Amino acid sequence: MKAFVIRGKEDCFFIETEKPQITRPDDVLVKVRSAGICGTDLHIYMGEHSMSMGVDRIPGHEFAGEVVEVGPGVKNLKPGDRVVHEPINYCGTCYACRHGQGNVCRTLKVTGCNCNGGWQEYYCAQEKQWHKIPDWMTWVQAALVEPYTIAAQVCSQAKVEAGDVVLIHGGGPIGLMCCDTAKHFGAKVIVSEIVKGRLELAKELGADYAVDPREQDLKALVKEVTEGEGVNVILDCAGLARMMNDNVEMLSPAGRLVPVAPVAVHIDDPIPVMAKQLTIIGSRLQMGKFAPVIARYELYAKHADKMVTDTFPFEESDKAFAFANARNPETGKVVVVFD
Ligand SMILES: [Zn+2]
Ligand SMILES: [Zn+2]
Repeated sequence: MKAFVIRGKEDCFFIETEKPQITRPDDVLVKVRSAGICGTDLHIYMGEHSMSMGVDRIPGHEFAGEVVEVGPGVKNLKPGDRVVHEPINYCGTCYACRHGQGNVCRTLKVTGCNCNGGWQEYYCAQEKQWHKIPDWMTWVQAALVEPYTIAAQVCSQAKVEAGDVVLIHGGGPIGLMCCDTAKHFGAKVIVSEIVKGRLELAKELGADYAVDPREQDLKALVKEVTEGEGVNVILDCAGLARMMNDNVEMLSPAGRLVPVAPVAVHIDDPIPVMAKQLTIIGSRLQMGKFAPVIARYELYAKHADKMVTDTFPFEESDKAFAFANARNPETGKVVVVFD
């Protein structure tokens, strides 16, 4: 079978390799049907990802497919079932695991990052790493389930709830999925973004306000929308270090900030952080979010379609990566589909 390998900076190619085999009783062999490209994959593609440097890496952690074979101990899956892959595998015994945070396990294995991923015709993993999806979901939509779980994790870390006002910096795919999720949780959402197409998409997805901060005074808008109280949550999906002092100012007392994109959190004046008892909280991958996201995916599916701006056949994966890596601001999610 064919697999797509990244060796180093913009150095990628197809290899012919053995089809994976069921070896453990709970193994499930899946024929891969779709895979999404995300920022992490592009870091690997640029030879910059710490977990994938100096190795031939088959990327892919956002993928879906069809079960073709199951081991004798598999309980809930059978050939023909449609599934999405959960890309984390944790030990279950370390401190984080014992505290329900296997997503930050000391020895965490992340599919497509520190072990090979879904950019191959077949993929074998234990039953616990597959989730059944309904028949109505398209393969392209299925490729976006994993990033939607990331947004679900961000919103749950930020404790977004009904009535909250949430400000999101950045309207790329993760920012928009966070918007979608926060809206679903009953929050009022402001998306701040400078790319026109993304702003329009944010509105279509139900953002209450989608603003270009170069054209509109964000602080004034926050004041107006929250009647001077401040936003309850800020999700920085753009990595805006220069906004950090403004973020502290714009947050309400008891507000929460999640740096979703890597960003230096440098705060000039720590007093408001104490005075307003702000929380700056990390969010990594996801924990237990596949089932709830799949359960409400009927709400997200049409939005997922709008976020996918380009699809490529598996055979053109090299083109797909080069295209995604060009990072055209109007490019949303890029998905590769398999025969
Ligand atoms: Zn991803
Ligand atoms: Zn662990």
